[in-house]
Amino acid sequence: MERRACYALVALERGIDRVGPGGAGSEIRGGALTYWSVEPLAVGERVEVPLGRAPKRAAGVVVEVGGPELADGIAPERVRPVLARTGRALPPDLVELARWIAAYYVCPLGMVLGTMVPAAVKRGIGRRTVRLLEPAPAPERPALLETATGLGPVARAAWTAIAALPPASFPMTPVALAAALGLRTKASLAALARAGLLRWSERAEVRGTDELWPEVEAAGPDPARLTAHQLAAVEGTARLLGGFGVALVRGVTGSGKTEVYLRVIERALAAGHTALMLVPEISLTPQTVGRLRRRFAGPGGAGAVAVMHSGLTASQRHAQWALAASGSARVVVGARSAVFAPVADLGLIVVDEEHAPDYKQDQLPRYHARDVAIKRAQLAGCPVLLGSATPSLESWANATASAGPEGRAPGAPKYRLFELPHRVGGGALPRVEIVDLAAERRALADSARHAEAGASSGAPGGPAIKNPALGPTLRAALTRTLAEGGQAILLLNRRGWASYLGCPSLACGWSLRCSDCDASLVQHRMAPRAGPGGTARRQMFVRCHHCLAEQRLPTACPVCARRLVSVRPGTQSVEEELEQALGLRRDEDLVRVDGDTMRSARDYAAALARFAAGRVRVLLGTQMIAKGLDYPNVGLVGVVDADTSIALPDFRAAERTFQLVSQVAGRAGRGARPGRVVVQTLSPGAAPIRHAAAHDYVGFAGAELATRRRAGLPPATRMARVVVRDRDPGKAERLGRELARHLEAARTALAARDAGARDPAELVRLDGPAPCAIERIAGFYRFEVLLTAPGRGLIQAVLASARAGGAVKSDAAMAVDIDPVALL
Ligand SMILES: [Zn+2]
Ligand SMILES: [Zn+2]
Repeated sequence: MERRACYALVALERGIDRVGPGGAGSEIRGGALTYWSVEPLAVGERVEVPLGRAPKRAAGVVVEVGGPELADGIAPERVRPVLARTGRALPPDLVELARWIAAYYVCPLGMVLGTMVPAAVKRGIGRRTVRLLEPAPAPERPALLETATGLGPVARAAWTAIAALPPASFPMTPVALAAALGLRTKASLAALARAGLLRWSERAEVRGTDELWPEVEAAGPDPARLTAHQLAAVEGTARLLGGFGVALVRGVTGSGKTEVYLRVIERALAAGHTALMLVPEISLTPQTVGRLRRRFAGPGGAGAVAVMHSGLTASQRHAQWALAASGSARVVVGARSAVFAPVADLGLIVVDEEHAPDYKQDQLPRYHARDVAIKRAQLAGCPVLLGSATPSLESWANATASAGPEGRAPGAPKYRLFELPHRVGGGALPRVEIVDLAAERRALADSARHAEAGASSGAPGGPAIKNPALGPTLRAALTRTLAEGGQAILLLNRRGWASYLGCPSLACGWSLRCSDCDASLVQHRMAPRAGPGGTARRQMFVRCHHCLAEQRLPTACPVCARRLVSVRPGTQSVEEELEQALGLRRDEDLVRVDGDTMRSARDYAAALARFAAGRVRVLLGTQMIAKGLDYPNVGLVGVVDADTSIALPDFRAAERTFQLVSQVAGRAGRGARPGRVVVQTLSPGAAPIRHAAAHDYVGFAGAELATRRRAGLPPATRMARVVVRDRDPGKAERLGRELARHLEAARTALAARDAGARDPAELVRLDGPAPCAIERIAGFYRFEVLLTAPGRGLIQAVLASARAGGAVKSDAAMAVDIDPVALL
């Protein structure tokens, strides 16, 4: 008998860039191995295959199908068969996207494909089989009725009723059918099935219909009319539908960007396509989802919008994924990994808050969801709509051609730019006041009254916090806002009690640092337990925010025995300061929103719901509260410390500071009353803070881009970072030197191939090996090599050649980060 086998290349999820010759009869192709199957296979299908000499079952995805040519020189009888087919997982265009990611972000293809499918889907969590009934075909019915025995009068009456039901209502579950017929039991249905008059069929379904989270109403109804600027953005972007293109909407906070997204999504749906909307994890607020649902799902049609984010249970995640895969959901909204949603007929991708660093994944594959979205749109032939009040400088440069990132001449922007310069409804942007915290503290220290009252807010027995976190201006503004019945948002992008603990003696200079990382330990307080008489005994401990190691708080300086002091207060100590100074009650009228208190999306939604209802007066939190929130009664936004990111050893420090201050300032004055913003800083003259206070994005971006151009930094150039690590510092440094040597050789080869034969350093600049900004994390010493070049193609060429030689790979000892967003 002729064996008509289908040959297939299978990328293994275990993620091997290349494998040894161990897999007998399996051909290696960029991490994919050849197998055969009697049944035809499809690209994107998930399979199990044998791997190794004593074969183990390994999961993989079919990335190519064909005939014996895929065996490429291996005798067909030595190619091994696919063991099992575990289901269609990915449409072919996503497999194509995975190939691009694997090549661009230097990651094994199978690992990229493995990332694209949620674990809950692979494990089939929540999947169940539903049994359904439908009547036998009409021509067979008389004969079946003739031969049927044991049909009582109830069953016969039921049959008559069934035959009268519209054929389109079948198949139905027995429960639904019994209900439709008014039957109390399913006994007569079973009898009809035994007689062959009713027939069983099965359908696979995913359970996961529990409520996603408490829904919070968005402020006000959807607007009936658009502003002229909104209209221009909608029409301009809609013109791109049907082909690839990128539009950037820069809209000040409150300018109605979301409404623009929704209108363009409507256009894409009207043209018969689907739409995908990405939002940063933390701003995937119930407000956004509620609004999308209301707009696109309609009454009772919740399935039309699928939601994907990390706060879902496993079965919910599977169910939402299945909604997208089956085509029932025409709109998918989700965080970073939703860029891989298995939707067909994609007509539009929206990336909200496109500047957000959380679009970058910090583990393999280290992709940037915005950039992947652009690639996906290109493959699908549809436009991408990027939106932000503070666009990333990369996107801004592409929309204004002010940086010439690929060396192109100014005047040829790659993206269409639309601006929404005004708030909807004519509301003014809030007045932002910069407070020089150092000056306020000096004034405080001079005040005798203050000297007597004492300024410490330390916990009993714990180290004292040297200064109150809220200076007189912010404190007075908060008191006044609350007295007037308003609400306030206070931003402090630092968790814990205090992030620096040390000896007050300059001569001693001891400070508490992690024994495994080059970092200060952060002081935390355990959740308080109220003791008798309302006194709370609060235990302190310290934790490393890099390796998460914890230890008890030392009682005194181990060198000179002085009492320790805490500086750089975190959200926990500010919470206590607010309780003591303003009489606010924790968890009642004051809620702290940070990574320690918000364990799940549900906690976050619940906190926001209480703030929206007006029960909570003050929301104190980290960057989690900086984005997307729109509450009309917020009269005051306070930035407790604008300097948390300004001194980071990262060239994006100024950009991050500008974004954070601008974003949180935008939460004020969303209602009828003008809002007030108070920004406390130790560097009142710093450019990002001054520009943010003046709501001057264009001025900030222009100055910052000029600085980056002069320094040869992105977006004027492209960058890749390769980090090597080892527990032994000498070995780590050696690895770094070897890496640099291989990259150097790859660069020289590239320059020789280049017809221009330019100086290799002009093509790609190599910096390093040098110790990373945080040289040691969790006991590993880290060295980096940076590659910068005028265009990404040059970096890719150098890396590809080093990768082919095995000198660059993504594994436990080496991390490759393309277009890094953080350099710590
Ligand atoms: Zn540590
Ligand atoms: Zn000391």
